[in-house]
Amino acid sequence: MNEAVNIIDLDYSDSLAVTWDIGRRCNLDCTYCPSYRHDNVSPSASLDSLKETAHFVFRYLETMMPFRSNKAATIDFTGGEPTANPEFVEFSSWLRKEHKEKYQEQFSLEVCLTSNGIISDRMRESLVENYEFATFSYHCEATESQKIRFFNNIEILKSTSFNMKINVMFHARDDYFEECLSVCERLRALGVDFVPRLIGDKDNKDRYNHQYSSRQINWMKEYWKNPEAVLFQLLEPRVSTADKPDCEKKQCSASSLGRPCCGSRNMKVCGGSSQWRNTKFLESTDFKDWYCSVNWFFLHIEQQTGQVFHHQTCQATFDYGRGPIGLLSDTGTILTNLKERIATKSMPIIRCSRRQCGCGLCAPKAQDLGSLLKIFPKHVDADIFQNRQPIEKT
Ligand code: SF4
Ligand code: SF4
Repeated sequence: MNEAVNIIDLDYSDSLAVTWDIGRRCNLDCTYCPSYRHDNVSPSASLDSLKETAHFVFRYLETMMPFRSNKAATIDFTGGEPTANPEFVEFSSWLRKEHKEKYQEQFSLEVCLTSNGIISDRMRESLVENYEFATFSYHCEATESQKIRFFNNIEILKSTSFNMKINVMFHARDDYFEECLSVCERLRALGVDFVPRLIGDKDNKDRYNHQYSSRQINWMKEYWKNPEAVLFQLLEPRVSTADKPDCEKKQCSASSLGRPCCGSRNMKVCGGSSQWRNTKFLESTDFKDWYCSVNWFFLHIEQQTGQVFHHQTCQATFDYGRGPIGLLSDTGTILTNLKERIATKSMPIIRCSRRQCGCGLCAPKAQDLGSLLKIFPKHVDADIFQNRQPIEKT
């Protein structure tokens, strides 16, 4: 670690975020996106199966909410490309209505979309009507006509004051990296929020984890230190073709750089000096053996495989392992276990078994249990951990 951070908290108590991958099907075929994340052949989930999953999600949320200080949930659809499902527009309006009729007294709901932004006019209109927020990713490997549609959608949504953010996926190929800089420039001129993102979060030297030149990595480092000052400073001189990654050195991969909170949340971090400071970026993402509240801030649904996880990428379980917490075909067991643990005040606390944290970065966590228990009451009723069994690493 560059800094001796040992507690990570949030400025405020955030909502419980359900990420819901509704299927792998996508209208793009980015080379850095693995086949377990996208394809163009998977069948789309039916409207009935989506509604059935929604019933489970609402019941899970209504079980957790009485013990959270912030009684707010978000549901964020992802994929593949969620809008590739022909039932998605109809499902979106049903979901909104279902929450309003049955659950709005118990918790508020924001519905969000994560998409590549190459969406139809009908879907764009449904966004304005049924959604609070969208994260669109800009992918350099899209065709020119897809890029035109992307910007057309962004400009129309901006004119309606729709709330959105763009993840600009910085491709390591020289011309694409430059394209991303220009895209940031264009978005800033439009007054649209954006986040420059590197591709991959592992050290692996494969197409899913881009290897960046030192100049590219330095640009990103400087950007995160001071986004306003740096964005345009390095647009000139352009990236040189001689500026190749030196892949013998570890610092070529995105993982070596650290990570921003992908939701742009303000985190509060504390180190040995006991001074809290605010940040949106952490230089180390290794929290192995830390105690973590990820299950109080996230839930992940994989519609296509029928699996339910605490979190999409970390997949932490209560037993210092990784994997699903249950199946969509047996959601009764997930709910029964949860209710029993709450009723007996024996709710377990997750201990992290990973060397690399992804987008669970912002979930409050601490190197020692005592520190986490101190920050818990701001977020969760700590009473329900009273009789929990300690989970030691194996
Ligand atoms: S748009 Fe997203 S889901 Fe589709 S191929 Fe590209 S990275 Fe994968
Ligand atoms: S990988 Fe998961 S369990 Fe580990 S610190 Fe990140 S969010 Fe928490």
